[in-house]
Amino acid sequence: MTNELVIATDLGGTHLRAAAIDRSGRIYERIKLSTPNKGPAEELVNALVQAAETLRLETKDKGIIKALSVAVPGSVNFKEGSISQAPNLPFLNDFRLADAIKERLSVPIILENDANAAAIGEMWQGAAQNYKTLLCLTLGTGVGGGIVLDGEVWRGLDGMAAEIGHLIIEPEGHPCGCGSRGCLEVYASATAIVRMARELLPNYSDSLLSKVDKITAEEVYNCGIHGDALSLEVFKKMGYYLGIGLTSLINLFNPEMIVIGGGVADGWEMFINHAYEQIRTRAFKIPAKRVQVVPAKCGDDAGILGAAYLAFQ
Ligand SMILES: [Zn+2]
Repeated sequence: MTNELVIATDLGGTHLRAAAIDRSGRIYERIKLSTPNKGPAEELVNALVQAAETLRLETKDKGIIKALSVAVPGSVNFKEGSISQAPNLPFLNDFRLADAIKERLSVPIILENDANAAAIGEMWQGAAQNYKTLLCLTLGTGVGGGIVLDGEVWRGLDGMAAEIGHLIIEPEGHPCGCGSRGCLEVYASATAIVRMARELLPNYSDSLLSKVDKITAEEVYNCGIHGDALSLEVFKKMGYYLGIGLTSLINLFNPEMIVIGGGVADGWEMFINHAYEQIRTRAFKIPAKRVQVVPAKCGDDAGILGAAYLAFQ
């Protein structure tokens, strides 16, 4: 029997990652290139098609390519194969990406939101294997969310569901890019870590962070590892707000598992107990006891693995 492969791609604002993957989740070949993030959409279609053609050539002895899937940083109309809104790649707004690729590669094309794809990737090959009702949070530049109920992604009527990053956790809080204020994203993303460190810096004149050239989330993490009081305070604050957000999610969904990934999750030991404290004191006892809150396992591959899984469906 011929081995069936799919090409799964993860379209980031900076990097475009693509891989040929088989039905068992084995990754054969992979490509990483810069995303043509200035547009126009045709440039991006060219890059995706080229990546797919290269992978097809490199894996021609290993199997036959059955489909191509794309994890997109934005809202996707799954049925139409179009992108409704992509804040970091605005030239893709209302673009029918699936049709545009299909004209060039005659295989089925599947689009999915990147955070949904990451949730599926973790369910298929990562931290949530054998779990069917789970939530996935990706704490990166922003905060992405994916909801899987009984093994199915919940996309909402317009493909706009699972915006966990925009749960409001501080009504009069910091303004968010979405137009609201006090969203989880402005307290639990890498961007938020940097902002909160800058805000608190005047109170901690002897902080290790006062000596770095440029405060990044990674620097806050590194200084935290060395016991820097300011950095630990930032992660405490972040954990507090994350815990409030998780409490609402636990009360709302009664999930088996909440998987937390993205770069900020590296600071796990510094924030998770502060989050647990909020869950312990605020959430309903039965779902709080049921849920497992765990770090993601697939790393940067979660999106391509989830996209591959969908392509095999
Ligand atoms: Zn928001």
